[in-house]
Amino acid sequence: MTTQAAPAKTTDITVEVVYRGIFQKTLAQRICRGVVLAARRSGHPGTAFARYGDSPERNGVPAKQFAVVAVDDTQLEASMARYEPSIVDVTVAVDDTLVKGVESWAWYGRQPIWKPTKPGGVVIVTSDRTADEIIAQTDKAEKPYTLAVVPGGASFAGLWVYKDDHTDWRVMGALAKVAPEWLPLEHVKALVREQTKDEGAVASVQFGHDATVLREVKPGEGTSGHEVLQFEKPGWTTMRPGIVVDARKPGERNPFYKKYSARTQRPVVNFDTCIKCTMCWLDCPDECFEVTPTGHYEVVYEACIGCGICAQVCPVKDCIVMVDELKFEKNDNVWQRWQSDRESYNRWFEATTGVSVAPPKTKAAAAAAGGDD
Ligand code: SF4
Ligand code: SF4
Repeated sequence: MTTQAAPAKTTDITVEVVYRGIFQKTLAQRICRGVVLAARRSGHPGTAFARYGDSPERNGVPAKQFAVVAVDDTQLEASMARYEPSIVDVTVAVDDTLVKGVESWAWYGRQPIWKPTKPGGVVIVTSDRTADEIIAQTDKAEKPYTLAVVPGGASFAGLWVYKDDHTDWRVMGALAKVAPEWLPLEHVKALVREQTKDEGAVASVQFGHDATVLREVKPGEGTSGHEVLQFEKPGWTTMRPGIVVDARKPGERNPFYKKYSARTQRPVVNFDTCIKCTMCWLDCPDECFEVTPTGHYEVVYEACIGCGICAQVCPVKDCIVMVDELKFEKNDNVWQRWQSDRESYNRWFEATTGVSVAPPKTKAAAAAAGGDD
């Protein structure tokens, strides 16, 4: 572990905040705005903006916002003469499941979280995990960078009603730690004190600064287990006349429909207690369920965005359990595993979900019995 990651001061600094659509949008805005306002206290101009077109309307879709700060107005103008920063000094991921890769609007395919971070730059991740656990789920590094882990789980602070869980202030404290030339801690604390009139928020800035763990990541560290996912985008002149999107043939799943990078959690099915009612199959908005030869329904994980609707509509208690995405390394479907070795699958189900494989009981029956069990 190192204690100092400050990038050498240059003519400007660009921070990108990668977040999940809807419920972390306001959080990302507050962080980018905070970067600009705190830097202004040091006399540096800056601007905060969202990526063009990033207005995701579905929970979980990865999106980005940016903050650019420069030594003076001329440098700021020069750095803004780009459509979107392709290289950034600091990447902030406010949800640790984003380290599995980002597929913003499916324009670029899945990309490593560190892809736009410059060599020697910093990737800040809010997480309850250790740096080594996070690296184990992050694409193999092709350049050195510093991983900064800010203690805290994924924020669900919301969009219309913002429930501040202080992720914004802790991340601001971490930014003061990794870029003190641009964001001196005292300036960040003064800004937060002025804006919130809340010493608890100021204490969270200090906590984010002090408790953030820095870990140098060398090229070659990380996993090579994630799928390479890139799309060929047809140009205006290369589209076939009359057809823009290929239709799905009956009985065939579109091989390009892969929205799994949107997940914070994934559904895990207890096939032993499933009563084959079809509710999950009917209600999944992304048609992720396939019927199996035994009449059970299994999730096609490549297509699942982790919205949790299936777990809500399933009438059997704990038959579908939503589990933290970072517990998984692959997107393989699992029914076949249950079919060939139930005991082993059930042991895995219990270890993964923390729920025991119990006899079937409907949610209504559990409620009538006066408890959850
Ligand atoms: S969480 Fe369930 S309902 Fe939502 S996309 Fe995945 S399988 Fe479908
Ligand atoms: S909703 Fe639950 S019980 Fe019904 S088919 Fe799906 S997994 Fe089985």
